[in-house]
Amino acid sequence: MTEATAAAHQTPEHPERVAPETDLMSKFDRLIAERQALLDSGVTDPFAIVMEQVKSPTEAVIAGKDTILLGTYNYMGMTFDPDVIQAGKDALDQFGSGTNGSRMLNGTFRDHMAVEQALRDFYGMSGAIVFSTGYMANLGMISTLAGKGEYVILDADSHASIYDGCAQGNAEIVRFRHNSVEDLDKRLGRLPKEPGKLVVLEGVYSMLGDIAPLKEMVAVAKKHGAMVLVDEAHSMGFFGPNGRGVYEDQGLEGQVDFVVGTFSKSVGTVGGFCVSNHPKFEAIRLACRPYIFTASLPPSVVATAEASIRKLMHAHNKRQHLWENAKRLHGGLTQMGFRLGTEKPDSAIIAVMLDDQEQAVAMWQALLDNGLYVNMARPPATPAGTYLLRCSLCAEHSADQIDRVLAMFQAAGKATGVLS
Ligand code: PMP
Repeated sequence: MTEATAAAHQTPEHPERVAPETDLMSKFDRLIAERQALLDSGVTDPFAIVMEQVKSPTEAVIAGKDTILLGTYNYMGMTFDPDVIQAGKDALDQFGSGTNGSRMLNGTFRDHMAVEQALRDFYGMSGAIVFSTGYMANLGMISTLAGKGEYVILDADSHASIYDGCAQGNAEIVRFRHNSVEDLDKRLGRLPKEPGKLVVLEGVYSMLGDIAPLKEMVAVAKKHGAMVLVDEAHSMGFFGPNGRGVYEDQGLEGQVDFVVGTFSKSVGTVGGFCVSNHPKFEAIRLACRPYIFTASLPPSVVATAEASIRKLMHAHNKRQHLWENAKRLHGGLTQMGFRLGTEKPDSAIIAVMLDDQEQAVAMWQALLDNGLYVNMARPPATPAGTYLLRCSLCAEHSADQIDRVLAMFQAAGKATGVLS
């Protein structure tokens, strides 16, 4: 460091402060430059979208413009349900705005117990534990279940929270090819027999909206003596006769050891959970650091979650409408000639695949300018270097809105040269 730079880092309040030799922030220079290049090209910053007003589960004002929301994971449209909102207001009035503490100490209120009971009822399972987010549920469950000398076997396209759960724990990590039953079988077969093994799967993979062949995978896991955890974040409420998820849809009740989920999608608030029938499941609360060492959810949040989960048990019409919307959008986009992440409308996520970042950004901006918000996703979050515009449907989208969305995709596709 030169004298001049050292002097520049001394302040009148801290004359002794000297800048460190290496700026730890310099590792972000490439990211800063990439983002700046994107902004210099004149596009709206896709990572700084502000919802200035939210009018309903499907409509918001963004940059002063009425916009249809098609990228929110608000699958069942519960965020504006009057009963859900009322439950939150009542809890705010009765219990205040926050808990000020961990579930283990002063942070368990009436409605934390009530929402865990609602989860037991929804899933028909004996155990339910609520976490502060779905991210923390995966972090906590995976790092706590699989310890030193044991194994976590996960799909290569797993969500970041699953990878981070592996990183937080001490188990050995084994990855298998996305949705490959054969590769899962092969990799499990190479492991020593005795140590504990946890196979981690997702019902719906959120980048392409494809579903896992859970039936075959659970059979393979069981053959090798592994326990199974399934993250059903993107399926709760509308897969299976009771909306429990892909595992229920594929007839796997009683065969999955742990189901992880979130309140941030179909439930319409924030929070995460794990449910299980394991007789010792409660012990997780005693050992799980992301459960113990953080504050519990505010009473208003758990009260809204409880009201929402109980309504989701009977939301058959909404479920049906959501699937109709998925079919309508998938069919329309396919007909126009867009390349999609799945051949059929397998889930409520429909991913439009584009060739490169330039195409993705141009399409995304054209849609936004016309009043449509979708999620843009790019590597490393996406599989195999793909650039995606991810659409997620809501049970509250009307058929007319979907038709308007399709017209906007057609116009944007033509304007950007993605469609010929
Ligand atoms: N699992 C999966 C598969 C997810 O997609 C997400 C969030 N997108 C999470 C877990 C984390 O959920 P939350 O938003 O509640 O942290």
